[in-house]
Amino acid sequence: MEGLVLRSTGSFYDVLAKDGSKVVCRVRGKLRLEGFKESNPIAVGDRVEYTLDHDVGVITSILPRENHILRQSVKKTGHAHVLAANVDQALLVVTIALPRTSLGFIDRFLVTAESFRVPQVLVFNKRDLLDAESLEYQEAVMDIYQTIGVEVLSLSALTDDIEPLKKILYGKTTLIAGHSGVGKSTILNKLDPRINQKVGEISEYLAKGVHTTTFAEMFDLGNNTFVIDTPGIKEWGLVDMNAQELSDYFPEMRDLRLECKLGSRCLHINEPKCAIIPAVENGTIAPTRYDSYLKMLSGEDSRK
Ligand code: GDP
Ligand code: ZN
Repeated sequence: MEGLVLRSTGSFYDVLAKDGSKVVCRVRGKLRLEGFKESNPIAVGDRVEYTLDHDVGVITSILPRENHILRQSVKKTGHAHVLAANVDQALLVVTIALPRTSLGFIDRFLVTAESFRVPQVLVFNKRDLLDAESLEYQEAVMDIYQTIGVEVLSLSALTDDIEPLKKILYGKTTLIAGHSGVGKSTILNKLDPRINQKVGEISEYLAKGVHTTTFAEMFDLGNNTFVIDTPGIKEWGLVDMNAQELSDYFPEMRDLRLECKLGSRCLHINEPKCAIIPAVENGTIAPTRYDSYLKMLSGEDSRK
């Protein structure tokens, strides 16, 4: 039988069966997807084959993945963890209000998703808290991202109808991430009250920095629409990426960099006849994006 992994605790897996029922599965022996050396062999979003042993499912194989998103494991450097597999898009909930999401963090998220060839969506939440000046700033930020092909949406999870968000999610599998406190749980609960994520108090997370969820979990919203909630993410590791490669994951640099005199050896810092630097100077490339690029290149913001 074939099913879809909705949740993984490391030893047990909740698998959605073809008939819509959920089967708790475990893995017998060692199961590895060929070519993968990550710490967890089976990830949320994996399509698996399983058999039933009395009432308990046993996963016998993992079907080939369309893609996956890796996350550098916090403790063991060099070791990566598959956050999710078979993802159509990655959505980051951000806010210009409190706790304000830094542009560096946004860019890191986008670059990571781009490196796994997963399209990105940015949802700017808490619009109801923005004054005229902040709204104007948010417009400018949204404009930067829309220009480079990222889907953007502004809303208030508290006061707005979230129909526009449902349209973006419809028929797809979307990985949803966001810093603690931006309103991710509020949004998920509004998408489907059955998700029932604990909505934290601002004071709570500021004081302790605790996360209300520990494992990535996928929810079935019907009509072939799935969302994967990821636990509070403090950092996004850029896995296995070299300096030459980085500008390939900035869509606004990808084509332009072919015009650099040094070709692929150009890192766009101060090289002669670089095509990127003038584009930053004349505003074709947003200075904030270039700034993020330089920081990622130097590894400076790797812990944010
Ligand atoms: P999470 O940590 O990202 O899951 O954030 P929560 O959903 O727990 O929300 C954190 C706090 O922000 C809660 O007090 C929510 O009520 C509040 N919140 C969420 N969305 C909005 C919004 O659009 N506007 C306002 N004013 N508050 C919001
Ligand atoms: Zn260059």
